[in-house]
Amino acid sequence: MNVRDSEHIIAELGNKEDYVLTNEACEADLILINTCSVREKPVSKLFSEIGVFNKHKKDGAKIGVCGCSASHLGKDIFKRAPEVNFVLGARNVSKITQAINTDKFISVDIDYDESSYAFSEFRNNAYKAFVNISIGCDKKCTYCIVPHTRGDEISIPAQLIVNEARKAAKNGAKEIFLLGQNVNNYGRRFSDKSHKKMDFSDLLDEVSQIDEVERIRFTSPHPLHMDDKFLKVFAQNPKVCKSMHMPLQSGSSRVLEHMKRGYTKEWFLNRALKLRSMVPDASISTDIIVGFPGESDEDFEDTLDVMRQVRFEQIFSFKYSPRPLTKAAEFKEQVPPDVASNRLKKLQVLQEEILDEISKEKLNLEYKVYFEEKRNNKMLAGKSDNNALVQVEGKDEWLGTIQKVRITNPKRLSMYGEVVI
Ligand code: SAH
Ligand code: SF4
Repeated sequence: MNVRDSEHIIAELGNKEDYVLTNEACEADLILINTCSVREKPVSKLFSEIGVFNKHKKDGAKIGVCGCSASHLGKDIFKRAPEVNFVLGARNVSKITQAINTDKFISVDIDYDESSYAFSEFRNNAYKAFVNISIGCDKKCTYCIVPHTRGDEISIPAQLIVNEARKAAKNGAKEIFLLGQNVNNYGRRFSDKSHKKMDFSDLLDEVSQIDEVERIRFTSPHPLHMDDKFLKVFAQNPKVCKSMHMPLQSGSSRVLEHMKRGYTKEWFLNRALKLRSMVPDASISTDIIVGFPGESDEDFEDTLDVMRQVRFEQIFSFKYSPRPLTKAAEFKEQVPPDVASNRLKKLQVLQEEILDEISKEKLNLEYKVYFEEKRNNKMLAGKSDNNALVQVEGKDEWLGTIQKVRITNPKRLSMYGEVVI
C-alpha cells in the first residue's frame, strides 16, 4: 500500500506541480520519506535517514515525512527533526500539493476520507498495476497499529476501481493487483450510502470483465472472511491468479483469541485445506508473528503444526514488536526477546525444509509466466499464475508478455527455466 501511496504522490507532484523523479538525493528539491510503522525498526530508521538526507541535500531542498509513522508521531517529528518541512499522514496523500507549498504543514487526520479522490496517474511498472480498493481497517487486532494510522475502513466506489483498472490495462498492464488491508471485506462501508451493495467476489467479477485484463491478484484477504462464495470465485474465475495470501499470525487458537483475529486454528485449517482441495495448483502464502505476549512453547508448536499441514509456499515471519496505541503492548506476559528469536529461527528452519521439498517437485513442470522485469543479472523475471518467481535468459521483447516456461532449476526463492516455444 505504501508503494501505491508513493505512486499517487509522484503522480500529483508531476501533474499539478512541476516535479520529476531523480535517484540522486543531492540533486533533489524535495525529499519524501514514505514510512511504515507496523514494527518498531522502520520507525527508528526514519530519524537516522532524515539525518543522512539533511546532510547531503542541496541548499533549500525540502524534506517531507509521509505515511504511517507520520500519522502516529505527528508533530513530534518536527520536535525530533526540526529540518523536516512537512508531515503528511497516510490517508492524507491527496493533500501533497498543499503540503509542499505551506511552511511546517501537518495533516495526520485518520478520519479524512480520500476514498473517492481521483488521483493523477503514475505507475512504476507498466506491466502490473496496483489499484486500491479500500482505505483503513476496521479490525482491531491487538498487536496492530494500522487502524490507528490509517483509520476506519472505507471501500472505494466500484466504478472508480473499474475505471482505473481499465485505464491501466489499456496502457499495457495485463495484471491488476487489488490492494486493501482486508480486501475480502470489500463493500462493508461506502462513503456514498447510495452505492450499490456488493462484496469482494462481485468486485472480482466486475474487474475480470475488462477484456484487456488477463490476471488479477489481491492482497490482503482476511482468513475470517474466506467464505465458500469467495473460495468458489477464486477457484473458478480464470483471470484470478491462483495464489492466496492467508495471514495466519499464530496457529494457536488461544493466541488468536488474544490477538482478536476472529478465527481459530480449526477454521484456518479448514479454509486452507478446502482451498488446496478446490485448487490443487494454488500457492498459499502467509504472515506469522512469533513471541506474541503469553505465547507458550505449546502455542508455538500449534503454529508449526499448521505450517506442516498447510505447507505454505511463502512465509513472511516476524518477531512480535510492541507498538504504541495497541492493546497487546500493555499485556503483562511479554515473551523474552531471546525466546522469540529462537522460535523465529526454528520456524524459518522448518520452512526451509518444506520449501526444499516443494521446490524439488517443480522440476520439469511448465508454468505460464508474465515477464515484468529485467534484472541486473540480465535475466528476465516474472511470476507464474500461482506467484512463483521465475527467471529465464531471454529476449527483451518477452517483457510484458506471458510465455510458457519449463523449470530446469527450481530453488527455494526463485525458479530458473527456459521458454518453451
Ligand atoms: N491487513 C493485513 C496485515 C497488515 S500488517 C492482515 O491482516 O493480514 C502486515 C503484517 O505485519 C501482519 O500480517 C503481521 O504479521 C505483521 N505485524 C503487524 N503488527 C505487528 C507487530 N506489532 N509485530 C510484529 N509483526 C506485526
Ligand atoms: Fe492490522 Fe488486523 Fe487490520 Fe491487518 S486486519 S491491518 S493485522 S488490524
